[in-house]
Amino acid sequence: MPSMDKKRIYLSPPHLDGAERELLLQAFDSNWITTLGPQVNEFEREICARTGVGYAAALSSGTAALHLALLMLGVGPGDEVVCSDLTFSASANAIAYLGAAPVFVDSERKSWNIDPELLAEELGEKARKGRLPKAAVIVDLYGQCADHDRIGETCRSFGVPVVEDAAEALGATYRGRPAGRFGVMGVYSFNGNKIITTSGGGMLVSDDEGLVRRAKFLATQARDPAPHYQHSEIGYNYRLSNLLAALGRGQLARLDAKVARRKEINGIYRRAFADLPGLEFLPAADFGAPNYWLTVVLITPALFGADREAVRLALEAANIEARPVWKPMHMQPVFRSCPRRGGAVSEDLFARGLCLPSGGGMSGEDIERIAAIIRGCCQGR
Ligand SMILES: *Cc1c(COP(=O)(O)O)cnc(C)c1O
Repeated sequence: MPSMDKKRIYLSPPHLDGAERELLLQAFDSNWITTLGPQVNEFEREICARTGVGYAAALSSGTAALHLALLMLGVGPGDEVVCSDLTFSASANAIAYLGAAPVFVDSERKSWNIDPELLAEELGEKARKGRLPKAAVIVDLYGQCADHDRIGETCRSFGVPVVEDAAEALGATYRGRPAGRFGVMGVYSFNGNKIITTSGGGMLVSDDEGLVRRAKFLATQARDPAPHYQHSEIGYNYRLSNLLAALGRGQLARLDAKVARRKEINGIYRRAFADLPGLEFLPAADFGAPNYWLTVVLITPALFGADREAVRLALEAANIEARPVWKPMHMQPVFRSCPRRGGAVSEDLFARGLCLPSGGGMSGEDIERIAAIIRGCCQGR
């Protein structure tokens, strides 16, 4: 029987647990409620301080940041851009905005991120044909870094610039270094369900001051320095509002606590399911520390006794939101004709993978409710 009387548990709702309200009202009272303003500058400075990156541009979304990053690398019609196959559509959409074609590369089992071997094969083959991709969009999936040393080495040897899509990975590290710092440019998202949120927003970061300055220029309608409105290039309206930056500052100050709480939630799930056959977790690769944005499980029906969709529906019937793992880009109707390398691993992860509620605001009781339903689905032994 659906227990709709119980409050709904969402996958990853916003968790406002810091000084967001005070900072927001401060921005409000200062009348800086437009794009730009002191909160935006402070938010950018604080992201730099947190990640050690040189420069940052606060934007209206992570997607906008990806779009500008690829635009600044000169991606255009007729170009190819390598992209992680297992990701959210925004990673690939940004490539399509510029008239370029994404080339999807399958995941490795170890981290579910782009497979460094397949990436090397892809670039090697393209180099032999004399037609290298213009860039590579490398995603850090579910808050865990891709194998950036190997990926970076391969891309450098072929002269292909990397844009790191760290939209899901703020607060994670790879060999001690923060996510978002492994390409010429990195991208964070502050969408409503990410580890920190501005309701909607994103950031483009780089150690190259010129790139970040140019991103800010393009994001404010490419206004030439003149007293009148003058434009020599096509611009975009992509800057973050000062109000939302205030929210972001409150959230960012709590990032360590948020990562710690999500790691704790992941641990609770792991202990609750330790004895269940046919249920594994997204592996934590030895090369980094994830931010545990979402806890993701893989369900093998032959052992578990139910498939991931049956588990998802059982949770939904109890008013609990769980979601299948991202549907790989090569399976998306809109990208079906795009070139790709591999795809069997991402297809398998999609078929068996389920993202569990992971919000930092969940109570111990909420997690028990979820765990009990999942345990109840298990018919295996
Ligand atoms: C959320 C997300 C984005 C897009 O960020 P928005 O701020 O929602 O535009 C891009 N890539 C990945 C992998 C994401 O999860």
